[in-house]
Amino acid sequence: MQAKQHLNSEATEQCEKVAVTVALGDGIGPEITRATLDILAAAGARIAPEYIDIGEKLYLSGHSSGIAPDAWESLRRNKVFLKGPVTTPAGDGYKSLNVTIRKTLGLYANVRPCVSYAPFVATLHPKLDIVIVRENEEDLYAGIEHRQSDEVFQCLKLISRPGCEKIVRYAFDYARSHGRKKVTCMVKDNIMKMTDGLFYKVFQEIAVEYPDIATERYIIDIGAARLATQPQRFDVIVTPNLYGDILSDIAAEMTGSVGLAPSANIGEQIAMFEAIHGSAPDIAGQGVANPSGLLLAAVMMLVHIGQAEVAARVHNAWLATLEEGIHTADLQGEQSQQVVSTAGFAEAVIARL
Ligand code: NAD
Repeated sequence: MQAKQHLNSEATEQCEKVAVTVALGDGIGPEITRATLDILAAAGARIAPEYIDIGEKLYLSGHSSGIAPDAWESLRRNKVFLKGPVTTPAGDGYKSLNVTIRKTLGLYANVRPCVSYAPFVATLHPKLDIVIVRENEEDLYAGIEHRQSDEVFQCLKLISRPGCEKIVRYAFDYARSHGRKKVTCMVKDNIMKMTDGLFYKVFQEIAVEYPDIATERYIIDIGAARLATQPQRFDVIVTPNLYGDILSDIAAEMTGSVGLAPSANIGEQIAMFEAIHGSAPDIAGQGVANPSGLLLAAVMMLVHIGQAEVAARVHNAWLATLEEGIHTADLQGEQSQQVVSTAGFAEAVIARL
């Protein structure tokens, strides 16, 4: 990852343990987070987890934001956060904790790599290899809603020039530093001329500073349609918050399962790593969830804190596990040799470290 405050240096590799704030989350969160931490420990990751409670427990104990003051202290002190998914309770009075954390900590860039692992994981799109760079603080996700009358409600779409500049520059820098060739901007600026129009205007302005990176723009509807049929056309996609949220679930599912994709939420000071999926209440407590999204997020975290060598070890063991057809239920298909539980999958990865 590119956060400026951490060094990917050999020197950091030699350092002692890095304190990392960890939240198990709820739903499938505790299952996949424990599996991930077991793998990291077995791989020799030099991290010292500091646990915080967030989500359901906190909502129920009267914290309408889903997080307590001492948890913020831990996040601000450690600056690195590995987060299990959390449920957003339905109904008025509860804010989305994910949105609160991203906005409060200034995590402006949500980086979501989606990759197919054909022929080892069944997919109709074997060449899919996309990084979605989703703006993470603004747009309809800014959470500014009003009641106009009993029958009319309004949600403000907030897009600012500084916000656009930060995310577009991040996408180009990411493309350059990761050997990517093209950045595609997806907007709906034919209709939302001022908000999405600004996003694309800034994209064009910043693109000239990166002559080595090809650029293109799609209106989001046809862009999403092309993504669904010809994902190999895309490389890095930069897009406002809500479009990025939707596109990344689609792209992840196209690789075989929404359970495969990780996400890094990057700010100037703090970074948070999580799976792209939610708390999956429909399968919670059954021990069948795929821990891969969170594990790959942890791999991104290890690179971020300067432990690239451990990250590579974990990633290779994980790939070897998939290649040998050891799959969780969501990946079950012709390629599967053995369908295992969450814990069984973690054991298989550990055996291949
Ligand atoms: P979801 O992503 O939790 O689940 C969607 C579908 O994908 C479900 O059928 C689920 O079983 C499956 N799935 C998800 N992750 C999986 C995994 N690792 N392995 C196997 N199958 C998996 O979406 P949802 O059901 O719409 O949301 C549930 C809750 O999660 C909501 O309260 C939502 O607000 C919250 N949410 C949280 C986050 C986050 O913490 N970052 C992200 C998205 C949604």
